[in-house]
Amino acid sequence: ASTAPSMQKPGQTTGRKQRVRVVLLTAVIGPLDYAVPQGMTLTPGDIVTVPLGPRQLTGVVWEDERAETEDVEDSKLRPVIAKAGLPPLSDEMRRLAEWASDYYLASLPNVLRMAIPGSAALKEAREITEYSLKDEQPDRMTDARKQAYERLEGRQGTVRELAAAAEVSEGVIRGLVNGGFADTHLVPTDAPFDPPDPDADQVDLSDTQQDVANQLVDAIKEKSFAPILLDGVTGSGKTEVYFEAVAEAIRQGRQCLVLLPEIALTQPFLERFAKRFGTRPVAWHSGLRQSERRRAWQAIANGSAHVIVGARSSLFLPYQNLGLIIVDEAHETSFKQEDGVRYNARDVAVMRAHMERFPVILASATPAIESHHMAEIGQYQRLSLPARFGGAIMPDITPVNLIETPPERNHWIAPPLVEALEETLERGEQSLLFLNRRGYAPLTLCRNCGHRIECPNCSAWMVEHRLTHRLACHHCGHVMPMLDSCPECGAEDSLVACGPGVERIADEVAARLPDARSIVVTSDTIWSPAKAEEFVQQVTNNMVDIIIGTQLVTKGYHFPNLTLVGVIDADIGLEGGDLRAAERSFQQISQVAGRAGRAEKPGRVLVQTRNPEAPVIAALIAGDRDAFYAAELASREMAMMPPFGRLGALIISSEDQAEANEAARMIGHSAPDFDGFTVYGPAPAPLSMLRGRYRFRLLVHARRTVPMQKAIRDWLDPIKLPQGVRVALDVDPYSF
Ligand code: ADP
Ligand code: ZN
Repeated sequence: ASTAPSMQKPGQTTGRKQRVRVVLLTAVIGPLDYAVPQGMTLTPGDIVTVPLGPRQLTGVVWEDERAETEDVEDSKLRPVIAKAGLPPLSDEMRRLAEWASDYYLASLPNVLRMAIPGSAALKEAREITEYSLKDEQPDRMTDARKQAYERLEGRQGTVRELAAAAEVSEGVIRGLVNGGFADTHLVPTDAPFDPPDPDADQVDLSDTQQDVANQLVDAIKEKSFAPILLDGVTGSGKTEVYFEAVAEAIRQGRQCLVLLPEIALTQPFLERFAKRFGTRPVAWHSGLRQSERRRAWQAIANGSAHVIVGARSSLFLPYQNLGLIIVDEAHETSFKQEDGVRYNARDVAVMRAHMERFPVILASATPAIESHHMAEIGQYQRLSLPARFGGAIMPDITPVNLIETPPERNHWIAPPLVEALEETLERGEQSLLFLNRRGYAPLTLCRNCGHRIECPNCSAWMVEHRLTHRLACHHCGHVMPMLDSCPECGAEDSLVACGPGVERIADEVAARLPDARSIVVTSDTIWSPAKAEEFVQQVTNNMVDIIIGTQLVTKGYHFPNLTLVGVIDADIGLEGGDLRAAERSFQQISQVAGRAGRAEKPGRVLVQTRNPEAPVIAALIAGDRDAFYAAELASREMAMMPPFGRLGALIISSEDQAEANEAARMIGHSAPDFDGFTVYGPAPAPLSMLRGRYRFRLLVHARRTVPMQKAIRDWLDPIKLPQGVRVALDVDPYSF
């Protein structure tokens, strides 16, 4: 493809104005043509400000022959207002955006907004004004002001950021600022980051580790596409080993991106990184302040940020000179974005590495079935670390049969697990109880009339949170105060909690082991990097005996004194009939089991289940991952499910149930029907109502050789839908 746009061609003598085609980042229309003002030179990739009606919008100059051929009259062309003083988007970056737009059936502006997030880049001011509250408080204290002082201790940010953090209006913060109760800070957004030192603090790798590290280093020296599955059991030193790859990328002067699944994880990770490389990496995640975001974006785009550690959104940033991507815990579901552009960061990472020709390392102890398959068929290189570092042995996994040794009524910890907790406590060691359910109880039921308390906006139960005395919907965030009486029949004291959440398990632990110090770890209690840090310190300093947590504790943490893991309910994940349920359960339980016995002291894992013979549980107990993967792959192949076939989901939604249903039927009726392309449904989507919208799903199943996206695009393009109906497209949906 030509990269120079037509207006750059010398000898153009038509007398027409020079024009460019611009993809607007925030408009539903476009791309649009604009005239290039005298004295301005523009090439594809340049970031520009252009007029649209009365507004000034940001856009990116795009190569497009039609800018010349499609005749918008010169007189109708409006001129580009300004060229931003920002690094242009490279060819590779534009090709990646086009690929993602095609593959994920998303609009180009939606993809580009991930590369150029407005607040990060576009204001060219060199500094941002931030405030922090002084100690001295005003005499007149309203409730909102009190809340601001409580929540903002030591915190610095813009008025908007402080208001959001304190959950008060911006007016409250502005009032305090104007009243002289805040310090003002001018934060530069172009301050350079310290370069990491590849040799700051190297560890001695074991022979196996060194061997794998050497292969990674060689791959980086090759400067070509190399997809690598770094397949090592938990605690085998995957991080230490891929740090050697990071070091090599730094030596080569290439940028390196480390993708991590959870924001809460970045804190211990950043410290570990700083120890190895002498300085922290550049972090990118949704919790950044505007000033931090802008500074990071600039450094990423101009190449002065060497190593970037980020959540999935960092994948689409316009790196100047990227030479390596590492996806840590690559099987994690949080790499899949479930709104907007529904991409899988793991897959985009591989595509980006392919397009820009550099190695990509997927690190995991329990790879996604798809990644495992790619290694099996030789598309990915598998590098294995089969043993834990330093002779630590893998923990024993034993089932606790809930039918043979059941817990007491309305209790969830069975006698063998209670005993194990007691023994561990007596030895002065730590335990972890895993249950992937936030709150106190997943369901609140009226004993009198049988009414279940549901979210008004979603087809989901309201979950009781006793710590905050509230009921909360985990899908839309709707909260209400805990009720005293049944909203249906009005009976007093008739509401009962059904089933356990982590808070309820904590109560049970407190009753059974009154001497144990326990801590609940969920996104409700660990909601900031500082909280995560506090948690790590408490556990590391042995101030905690029993950790009770959701999937937030299954990853990344390394606690040498933690020797017992109890899985409260191994069967939960297998309910629901989702085809990926077995894989997900296997990964989750393996990961949480991997927290036990990571140092000298051996660990053990007790898995409570009603069905010890289920293949997932049996495989976990036998420690036979590969047999499990082989069986899973065989059943996927039989059904032609991914990775052997392809899937796409269409979620059709409206606030009006009949309208959504009607639209879904209409779309279903016009579905193309050809060999290797089958459409199932419509049926109510897995969450049939979400945020007040009724949802129906059509599922596309396609043979690998069929151009599925094109068929979907051709199918949907001519369809006109009522205003209130939305269609969300999910290519390679995670659940199926
Ligand atoms: P994984 O990422 O595979 O779970 P880590 O890289 O986190 O494993 O290593 C597990 C623990 O063992 C960490 O505390 C790490 O610092 C330590 N470790 C691993 N390899 C070495 C090594 N070669 N020398 C010293 N410590 C190591
Ligand atoms: Zn809801």
